[in-house]
Amino acid sequence: RAKDMGRNRFCFYTEDMNGKAMAKLDLEAALSRAIERDELLLHYQPKVDAHSGETVAAEALLRWNRAGVGLVSPGEFIPLAEHSSLILAIGAWVIDTACRQIRTWMDAGLPVVPIAVNVAARQFAAGDLDGVVGRALEQHRVPARCLELELTEGMLISNPQAGTQMLQRLRDLGVKVSLDDFGTGYSSLAYLQQFPIDALKIDQSFVRRIGAQPDGEALVDAVIGLAHRLRLRVVAEGVETPTQRDHLRRQGCDEMQGYHFGRPDAPEALQRRLAAEADLVTAY
Ligand code: C2E
Ligand code: MG
Ligand code: MG
Ligand code: MG
Repeated sequence: RAKDMGRNRFCFYTEDMNGKAMAKLDLEAALSRAIERDELLLHYQPKVDAHSGETVAAEALLRWNRAGVGLVSPGEFIPLAEHSSLILAIGAWVIDTACRQIRTWMDAGLPVVPIAVNVAARQFAAGDLDGVVGRALEQHRVPARCLELELTEGMLISNPQAGTQMLQRLRDLGVKVSLDDFGTGYSSLAYLQQFPIDALKIDQSFVRRIGAQPDGEALVDAVIGLAHRLRLRVVAEGVETPTQRDHLRRQGCDEMQGYHFGRPDAPEALQRRLAAEADLVTAY
C-alpha cells in the first residue's frame, strides 16, 4: 500500500511537472504571436510632482491581452520573454508604441508629459538600444525630451564600461534615464557616481516601510540624501498612503508614483487627467 501510494504520488508529481512545462511552452508560443495578433497594449501610470501634486510624467507599463485568458501582467511574461530574443521585439514594440502615442497626443493638441518606458537587461545588453530609440523618435517625430528610459542597476553593473558608453549615447540623443527599483539590485555606490543618469527610483519595498516599522524611514531618507548630493532627481515608487506621501514630501523627494495618486490605466485615462489639470490652470 505504502509503495502504491508512493508510486501514485510520484506519477502525480511528474504529471504536474509535465503540465507546468507544457503551460510554459504554450505561454511562449502564444507570446511569440502576441505582437502580430495585436494583443499587447500599454497602460500609463502618472508620476506627480511631490510638492504641487501636478502630473509631470507617466510610466508606460506593458499588458498582454491574451486570447481566451484576459489581461496578463508583465511579471508573468517578461521573465519568460527575457530568456529569448523575443524580448527584443517586445521591447522595440513598447518604445515604438509609446512614441506613437505621444505623437497622437501632440497632433490632437493635448497636453503631453514625458513618458518613461522600462528596458529589459537583454535589450540593454544587445547594444542597439540607442538605435531603436533614435529610429522611433525620428519616425514619429517625437522630441527626445518626451521619452525617458527606466533601467536597473544590474544591467549597468554587469558591464559597467559598455553600460556607461550606452548611457552616454542615450544622453547624446537627449532621452532621460532613471535607475528603477533602486536599492534592490547589486547596488554599487561607486558606479552610481560614474553613470550619467538623471534620476533614482526608490523601490516600493522601501516606501512600504515608512511608518510601518521602527526606523522604517532610514533607507528612503538616506537614498534621497544620496541622490540629491549627486544632483539626481528622486522618484518614489509604490506610494499608497498619505503617511508615506507626507514623509517623502518632507524629506524632499521630487516625484511620486503609486496607487495613492493613480493606478496604471488606459492611455485615455492619462489624457483625461492631463486635460483636467490643464483646465484647472487656465480656469485659475
Ligand atoms: P516597475 O517598472 O518597477 O513598475 C512598477 C510596478 O509597480 C508596476 O507593476 C505598477 O503597476 C506597480 N505599482 C505602481 N504603483 C503601485 C502601488 O502603489 N502599489 C503596488 N503594490 N504596486 C504599484 P506592473 O505593471 O505589474 O509591472 C511590473 C514590472 O514589470 C515593472 O516593474 C517592470 O519591471 C516590468 N515591466 C512592465 N512593463 C515593462 C516593459 O514594457 N518592458 C520591460 N522590460 N519590463 C516591463
Ligand atoms: Mg519602471
Ligand atoms: Mg520600479
Ligand atoms: Mg518595482
